[in-house]
Amino acid sequence: MNNETATLEEIQAFEGKYPKQLWYLFFSEMWERFCFYGMRGMLTFFMVYQMAMEKDVANLQYGATQAWVYAFTFIGGLFADKILGFKKSLFWGGILMITGSIFLTIDPKGFFFTGISFLVVGTGFFKPNISSMVGQLYKKGDYRRDAGFSLFYSGINMGAFFGGMLMIGVGKGEILSGVIPENLRWNVAFALVAVAMLISLLIFSFTRHHLGPIGNTPINYDEEKGKKWYIYAVYIGALMCVPLIVKMVSNTVYTDWFMYIIGPFSVGYLIFEMTKLDRDSVKKLIAALVFIVFSSLFWAIFEQAGGSLSLYAAEHLDRGTLNVDPNIVNNSANSLFVIVFAPLIGILWLFLHKRNLEPNSVVKFGIGFLLLGAAFYVFGANKMFATNGIAMGDIFILGYLVVTLGEIALSPIGLSLMTKLATPKLQGFMMGMWFLASAYGQYIAGLFGAGISPKADASPMEKLEVYSAGYEQFAVYAVIAGVVIIAISPFVRKLMGDVK
Ligand code: GLN
Repeated sequence: MNNETATLEEIQAFEGKYPKQLWYLFFSEMWERFCFYGMRGMLTFFMVYQMAMEKDVANLQYGATQAWVYAFTFIGGLFADKILGFKKSLFWGGILMITGSIFLTIDPKGFFFTGISFLVVGTGFFKPNISSMVGQLYKKGDYRRDAGFSLFYSGINMGAFFGGMLMIGVGKGEILSGVIPENLRWNVAFALVAVAMLISLLIFSFTRHHLGPIGNTPINYDEEKGKKWYIYAVYIGALMCVPLIVKMVSNTVYTDWFMYIIGPFSVGYLIFEMTKLDRDSVKKLIAALVFIVFSSLFWAIFEQAGGSLSLYAAEHLDRGTLNVDPNIVNNSANSLFVIVFAPLIGILWLFLHKRNLEPNSVVKFGIGFLLLGAAFYVFGANKMFATNGIAMGDIFILGYLVVTLGEIALSPIGLSLMTKLATPKLQGFMMGMWFLASAYGQYIAGLFGAGISPKADASPMEKLEVYSAGYEQFAVYAVIAGVVIIAISPFVRKLMGDVK
């Protein structure tokens, strides 16, 4: 088969567990996430210790960038569907990300917000669209799709794990300090972000021909030459967003406003799109919306990892049997567990499918919440083993194992569901909405985290009590959500029609 001309049917008729194109997208996404999480891991630290920002300001600004990153995926997905197609979007996103990193390499402090804003817009064009392409490798009803997304998810976390360690390590002088002059450490760390993204784009360019028609532009611009300016308009519009985001991120009040507007706007737009569709497609989109809304609660609890759990880890945990710094556990245990368990769970789904025992996607989603609840209960209950406000690092690791199993039951399945439930013309848009829910999740996570911050003058044990009570409360929310999802699963499945 000549891949240049491979048709969609030929690509989707692959044999074995995974299509070979999945591996190309896997590596491209792995490097993009390497860049993204490397960057993310440096942000707050850099703001506080290099730019001398107050901790609370840095935290708010960190939250704002995260919310913007995921909010922009909605815009990236929308324009991919209408104008650019996934392949062009990916390239454009990658180029913007590289540009942002180059700015940061030249002058990390001077160009800080400019660089970050390029990265925000770039990620918006890259992240949702590569996930949508994974979905297109499978034909309708192919039971191997969820397993494919589970594998893809391991790639995401491999990038996250190594990027998160390497870049901050270089910046702080823990890694390669012998060869990098001290005054250039942060420049080199940011340069690594550009290198990672370049590798991602190179992998994509060398393998894109294997994708055949997947991700081509939705409009045939060779035939409709008069519409070619749409593409340039998107490129220019995206560039014009950069100075706008610089302003918005540096003043988090604007971010609040943006968050109030973008959600209702996206739902309004979805309703507008629904008016053009038949009943079955509309029902599927409503089902997708149910998953999207629940997922924002999932991320609001899960994302305590970047906020309250990191402060909890810093002050209330011992180093455990493995003698590891609790903050390192907090930053890396999740990715490591995903890398190990996502493929195994992918295989478990295939195994159960063969025996007609695979739970349907709605139930998997519910299980994800129940596990999230169990994990936060473990985090909370750890106080029973505490002395002088210091709880057990080993139990914390156990909590992370459970939280990760919950994430694997929900997050890759959610990606997979978006590709199953969206109509062909709304693939990018729905993937964008899925990530927009993460933007809200990040945003609410900050509020939740702030709500369980203990008073500075409390004793260690009192502080631990405050965190633990908060985590147990989140556990209750998660379990309620899980039970509700499983209870409404027959109804949601009806909406989903032939999608399993
Ligand atoms: N950790 C996953 C990723 O980076 C999921 C993020 C999310 O959807 N919030 O892709």
